[in-house]
Amino acid sequence: MEKVVRDILAAKEIRSKERQKFAESGDISLSLTLNIPGLPKSNDQIKLFFSECLSDLKRFLLSHRITIEEKREIIRPDAAGDFYLVPVSGNEISVTTIKEIAELYETEHSLGRLLDVDITDEKGNPVSSGKVKKCYFCNEHPAVFCMRMQIHEYEEMRTVIENDLSGFLQERRKSRVCKDLSAFALKALLHEVSLSPKPGLVDRFSNGSHSDMDFATFLNSSAVLSVYFREIAEFGFSFSSANIKDALPKLRQIGLQMEEDMYRETCGVNTHKGAIFLLGFSLFVSANRIKNHNFSYHSFVDQIKELNGSLVENELGKKLYSDKKTHGEECFEKFGNMGKGIRGEIQAGLPCVFDYAIPVLSSHFDAMGIVNDETIQNGLIQTLLVLIAKNNDSNILYRKGEKVLNELKDISQQAFNLFGTKYFSSKYQDLVYYCKDNQISPGGSADLLAVTFFIYMVNKKYN
Ligand SMILES: [Zn+2]
Repeated sequence: MEKVVRDILAAKEIRSKERQKFAESGDISLSLTLNIPGLPKSNDQIKLFFSECLSDLKRFLLSHRITIEEKREIIRPDAAGDFYLVPVSGNEISVTTIKEIAELYETEHSLGRLLDVDITDEKGNPVSSGKVKKCYFCNEHPAVFCMRMQIHEYEEMRTVIENDLSGFLQERRKSRVCKDLSAFALKALLHEVSLSPKPGLVDRFSNGSHSDMDFATFLNSSAVLSVYFREIAEFGFSFSSANIKDALPKLRQIGLQMEEDMYRETCGVNTHKGAIFLLGFSLFVSANRIKNHNFSYHSFVDQIKELNGSLVENELGKKLYSDKKTHGEECFEKFGNMGKGIRGEIQAGLPCVFDYAIPVLSSHFDAMGIVNDETIQNGLIQTLLVLIAKNNDSNILYRKGEKVLNELKDISQQAFNLFGTKYFSSKYQDLVYYCKDNQISPGGSADLLAVTFFIYMVNKKYN
């Protein structure tokens, strides 16, 4: 034990010398340390917490127009714990003001009483505001008092700190994951609609087979939907019931709200109903799997299936609304299995996405990366083709019947097979013309394309 104490004192001595050195060159210095009672003074969790606080502190100082000299910064763990020291300056900002700003950072931080941001002036003296810091554990006595009198048990203090740090880091992780997921979802929608030319679908240059919507309609719709992506991801991350189906009512509520906003934004045109459905579930499941450190294509499919078991029977087999049958219901009644549409696809765990689309997208993006418009276009085009070739788009089936759907799938398969050869562009044109002539739009496949891209991006980052 004695050696440990000696090492800690020696480390503090070195820290003090380093502060003096900065003072000798006429600099004010700022340090960040943690008040960790007991041993060890640092471990993986504490290090992670320290590095989060350090990033926050740097932003905080910058926002208050205090300059830190990053080239001269000292950052390392020593026997006394994690340590950061840097010379700071501010245009006409006095050392007292710098101290006040440092204290403000501690006060505003949720675990601020664990942090010490100390200022040393140009003469090498510690700058004090005279304020007494309260004890982290009782929030009653001054911290120094409890420490000297050994008021709290070490073991108890360590447990409290461990729990607090773990809660803090979990919140940080949640925020980072949910930000990522919502950005991926918006990227997926934007790249899908930007893919041009597309057969029958709205793209950058054409409205495809549509007269009531164009590129701008899709951008506007994507923008209003994006507001909800983070909400769904946060719900997925926080969701902890043992029965995953307990999440359905809340997911439906958010989905209905998104549809309302979409219709308001597009003046009543359905741009993204399928995408809301697919991305909604995918955002929820991804966040939930990542929270449990268990995201993989496999675990994603399992949870999607669990969430949507007997969806077709429940929603298409019996009437959900009283008087009028929906297109989906009519389609299922008329075409059976082939007419299950997007509900059938999701209930089966998105086989079009995982058996066909992801392998094609991966074959492009794994090697090339998602770096520029050209690589993204190429990857998405070939993936869209395989989706149109495999997906029984219930909208086309409902409006045009089985023959047209099968012809469309055939031409798409042929174009897919010719991808990368000199015959490709003419076959792809055939597909574009076929959709134009028959006034069809494979919107269901476009939705699957967006969700494929989303899942690919999630997997790349979090598997
Ligand atoms: Zn206390």
